[in-house]
Amino acid sequence: KRQGRLLVVANRLPVTISQDKNGQFDFKMASGGLVSALQSLSKTMEFQWFGWPGTEIHKNDQATIKDQLATRFHAVPIFLSQQTMNSYYSGFSNSVLWPLLHNMAFRAQFDGSWTEAYREVNEIFAEHILPLSEDGDLIWIHDYHLLLLPGILRDRLKAKKGVRIGFFLHTPFPTEDTFSVLPFREAICHGLLSSDLVGLHVREYVETFLDAAEKVLPDVRRSPSDLHYQERKLIVKEFPVGIDPDAFKTSLSSEETKREMMSLEQAFRGCKILLGVDRLDYIKGIPQKLRAFDRFLHDHPEWIGKLVLVQVAIPTRSDVSDYRAIRSEVEELVGSINGKHGTLNWTPIRYLYTSLKPEQLHALYALSDVCIVSSVRDGLNLVSFEYVACQTARKGVLVLSQYTGAAKLFSSAVLFNPWDLPRFSDAILTALEMPLKDRQQKHDSAIKAVETWTSMRWGMSFLDTLQSSSLED
Ligand code: UDP
Repeated sequence: KRQGRLLVVANRLPVTISQDKNGQFDFKMASGGLVSALQSLSKTMEFQWFGWPGTEIHKNDQATIKDQLATRFHAVPIFLSQQTMNSYYSGFSNSVLWPLLHNMAFRAQFDGSWTEAYREVNEIFAEHILPLSEDGDLIWIHDYHLLLLPGILRDRLKAKKGVRIGFFLHTPFPTEDTFSVLPFREAICHGLLSSDLVGLHVREYVETFLDAAEKVLPDVRRSPSDLHYQERKLIVKEFPVGIDPDAFKTSLSSEETKREMMSLEQAFRGCKILLGVDRLDYIKGIPQKLRAFDRFLHDHPEWIGKLVLVQVAIPTRSDVSDYRAIRSEVEELVGSINGKHGTLNWTPIRYLYTSLKPEQLHALYALSDVCIVSSVRDGLNLVSFEYVACQTARKGVLVLSQYTGAAKLFSSAVLFNPWDLPRFSDAILTALEMPLKDRQQKHDSAIKAVETWTSMRWGMSFLDTLQSSSLED
């Protein structure tokens, strides 16, 4: 049995804080992802969470919030001003690192003050963690907001015994030419390699990361079995994050989800449903999907009136200009395609710019005949997992971009290149016309992957590997 303490560090705490009209604070533990992956550990391990509380908290309220979070959630808030968030989060993290990690150097914007803010925030995180860390702790740091943190901690944790540092990067890792554009790339590689374990979703990202690290830093030594950096041994390995499929099964059998399914069934009677669910991010290839659908309707007029593309665009990062631009582009395309192919009693694209309630989302997943994920780059892509988990009855078809991490796990999906418009349009037709026998086969294989690569397995295997990593201090 695993024992001891686990310190989980991420940009955002898994607690949502809201304030009512009387100024009273309300706290809610987030569900999903990391929290559910680690749930089964909470009986034997003591948890401590570190992260930004999700909103700017007035100086006078900080002590109360800190107390409440400590006693009720074992969480330590890292308070950051709006101005710091603008530079460190919207600036360096989301306008420099995000596009570069997704191999889109042309989208990166640079501003010297962002770089400084990023360093400072990584430092602030370290200052909160250090006084609270103890001998034998496991420290698990998450994602691209905190790439420098393992390096800072490693230097200052020398007095503590048996502390292990793990880092998981939830994005892809770019090819070397893109990575070399990054400001302070040496510090970033040094930061990551200061961990005992670095996890990425798939093997390809492990390889691109190690290639970049070897080029950028002098002290990296790789052999087929070992990796050394500055005479320390560490592990870099793939751990796809996955979902908790049982949570979807439970939701699908709930009354509320069933009610949603009934009302959707009525609304879309007589139409096949193609589904897209994406954050409105330029990595998701939504314009490519819309253009392919346009082409499909042009090439296959026999489908006019017989299918609908439901595209859910989840609002995200609207303070970054590229995100406002992608929204305009998408909405213009939706308008023009609906105008071009629509009839008096049929609209081809049902577009929603909103977040859905889980029951609505799960009902949509269950009722759709085809799910299209057309990302031009995507760390893993959980929407594809969630769709498969909800398709045990219908055996719908997953049409999946080859540029997602998920494509490495779903070999049975209809894989395609979102830039290749004619083939993308063909892939839509293949999915729509696929006989039940083939759909059944593909579903059986995909559900096996979903049930193998669960979020629980991800959490456990990462921590097992971290705990067994060699201690040299
Ligand atoms: N999702 C959501 N709100 C919605 C619809 C979906 O939060 O209205 C969730 C969805 O269930 C999935 C996540 O957003 O778990 C998207 O994860 P994915 O890995 O596909 O992409 P990311 O947004 O992390 O880039």
